[in-house]
Amino acid sequence: MKSNKKQLKVLFVSAEVDPFAKTGGLADVAGSLPKELSVLGHDVRIVMPRYGVISTNAKYVADIPVEIGHRTETCVIKESNIFDEDNREVPIYFIENHNYFNRKGIYCYFDDAQRFILLCKAALEMLPAIGFKPDIIHCNDWHTGPICLLLKEKYQMNDFYKDISTIYTVHNLEYQGNFSADVTRYLNLKEGYFVPEKAEFYGMFSFMKCGLVYSDIISTVSKKYAEEILTEEYGEKMEGVLNSRKEDLFGIVNGISYEEFNPGKDKCLFANFDKGNAELKKLNKQAIQDELNLHRSQAPLMGIVTRLTGQKGLELLLGCIDDLIIKENVQLIVLGLGDECYHNAFSELQKKYPLNVAAFFEFNAALAKKIYAACDMFLMPSRFEPCGLGQIISLRYGTIPVVRATGGLAETIIDYDENNSEGNGFSFDEFSVSEFDKTIQRAVNVYKNKPEIWQKLILRALNSDFSWKKPTKAYLELYESAVERKNKGVLTVNE
Ligand code: ADP
Repeated sequence: MKSNKKQLKVLFVSAEVDPFAKTGGLADVAGSLPKELSVLGHDVRIVMPRYGVISTNAKYVADIPVEIGHRTETCVIKESNIFDEDNREVPIYFIENHNYFNRKGIYCYFDDAQRFILLCKAALEMLPAIGFKPDIIHCNDWHTGPICLLLKEKYQMNDFYKDISTIYTVHNLEYQGNFSADVTRYLNLKEGYFVPEKAEFYGMFSFMKCGLVYSDIISTVSKKYAEEILTEEYGEKMEGVLNSRKEDLFGIVNGISYEEFNPGKDKCLFANFDKGNAELKKLNKQAIQDELNLHRSQAPLMGIVTRLTGQKGLELLLGCIDDLIIKENVQLIVLGLGDECYHNAFSELQKKYPLNVAAFFEFNAALAKKIYAACDMFLMPSRFEPCGLGQIISLRYGTIPVVRATGGLAETIIDYDENNSEGNGFSFDEFSVSEFDKTIQRAVNVYKNKPEIWQKLILRALNSDFSWKKPTKAYLELYESAVERKNKGVLTVNE
């Protein structure tokens, strides 16, 4: 269905885009929201760096010189396509630069500030070269924050750029891209912006703050997180800036691609299933138990697929898992990459309980889907969670989430209790081992003793709709209001 309103031109800028480069949920959003906008008839183009790991046969478009401090770097712009549901092409532009992007990894290099300033400048500089003048530039997370700064402090003096509005989406406020002040020389801007009211953050240059201060509209990935980040507890020291732009801050919960994640057709699964034959789901459990040498049993099987970082609250699980294995004979599959302490802890656990625990420390999209489909429960005891996709993907595969009620988890998961016919998972508030333990025990109790209710929960999960349908409409409204603000000349930078 096409929107009646004017077709919008959107440039979507992201450091990660699934299936080209992914470490977490940002890539899922960047790989799916543009396609949904395209289905509604909008002209959306994506831009990202061409990291060394990306192999595509993208076609050459242009060479553009980009000033970065005293040097000029040549960026080669190449174009490829991804396809929306109606098989329409959504162009994706790769920025190639041998010095900065042709490396194995995505992040964590000594020169990340230069690398992502280069991305921001190249994304702007390439527009005349590709003949695309967007109504909106949709910037995502810290890597793209300086686009909002560069536009307002420099590019909008030029006719080509003067009508472009920006929306800046915070996928995770924890990662801010704060660098020592000397990186500002790579921006090649006139003075005036490096002050506490603008891009300076406690003496540092903050990529995130550039997005928060200079964008026309700020969004984040759930309404609840949009409220939380205004507080000291969740604001990561940006709560002051965020409060000063409260009127321009919106929350839209992410969707997932129902094509990419489809238990009825997913080729990664041992057995496909959907709401019409949900009983086939259990074949996935049996197959994965066999494949991973877990005990073949009815024991509750719990899964985790995540970045292994402090955010994810894994110490709560490590604090109660021994007991759960001993008392309830639960099984656990962990798939994740991250901090060494978690790799060690889950490796130890696997050694201690080889029939109950399997752990994998890698990025593996196919194994992730097998886990989502095979498990009975999916665990997310996060300390904070801007949106969280794991719980949404697990619902899509009929796996019941057990989550801490924070951010997007609080917005998407309703706690089941006998008097609540709406529940689609199990959740707890207080960040403590005992609360998480109790909540898993509640879930295990329903699973073991009330199988008919558990089946209802599975069907409710399989019938729920967390597709992009609703969130795409909400983004379009934000885009339209960003354009309106721009047309009215609403000035958002504190002068
Ligand atoms: P975050 O964005 O904080 O990493 P989300 O829950 O929003 O967390 O999104 C995580 C995404 O990354 C999901 O699609 C999840 O399946 C995927 N993912 C995380 N770790 C891995 C891994 N080791 N292998 C495969 N997929 C992973």
